[in-house]
Amino acid sequence: MSWINDRAPIQMKYYILFGPPGAGKGTQASAMVERYNLHHISTGDLLRKEIKAGTELGIKAKTLIEAGSLVPDEVVEGMIENEFKTVKGVDGFLLDGFPRTLAQAQALDELLARNGSEVTAVVSIMIPDEMIIERIRHRATIEGRADDANVDTIKNRIATYHRQTEPEIAYYDAKGKYYQADGVGTIEEVRSRIFDIVDKF
Ligand code: AMP
Repeated sequence: MSWINDRAPIQMKYYILFGPPGAGKGTQASAMVERYNLHHISTGDLLRKEIKAGTELGIKAKTLIEAGSLVPDEVVEGMIENEFKTVKGVDGFLLDGFPRTLAQAQALDELLARNGSEVTAVVSIMIPDEMIIERIRHRATIEGRADDANVDTIKNRIATYHRQTEPEIAYYDAKGKYYQADGVGTIEEVRSRIFDIVDKF
């Protein structure tokens, strides 16, 4: 049985918000969610909740997150499937921080295909590497995330992004689903570039 039982699968939108750490994905997600009636799924936020709640999963994830490494694919894939199954009444989902590896991208494609759906578009917010550290350091003063506070962790997150996540660009580009917004500028400027892309779907 399909988990999309309150809407025809074909109507549901599945957007991926893509970009390096510190690109502004979380900030831009709120505006997108409101404009397009989407449910925001941030795997990073879900993992931080598990850590806060002190669950077994959270305890395992904490060490990896604080080192700037990725948690295992199966862990986040399970979280995504669970959100798809339980959240109703929206026009689609906005995935933020997922997929982060090619294996996750393929698992997502399979999960959606099993339910007669597919990724609608990948919206990429791009900023140069030299801006990442500056943005994350600024966020550290506001949000107090442990993985934002340590320069070695930030550097490993940037390296992890280039090594494990960036290959997704070619993967989605080959499917004609990759759209890039320049992430340099004010929040409002970047937002309007994103809206220009997503309004078309
Ligand atoms: P974020 O809030 O998206 O920056 O994620 C914070 C951290 O959570 C990452 O550096 C990873 O350690 C972990 N994480 C979040 N999403 C994923 C994912 N899709 N796959 C693996 N690890 C993830």
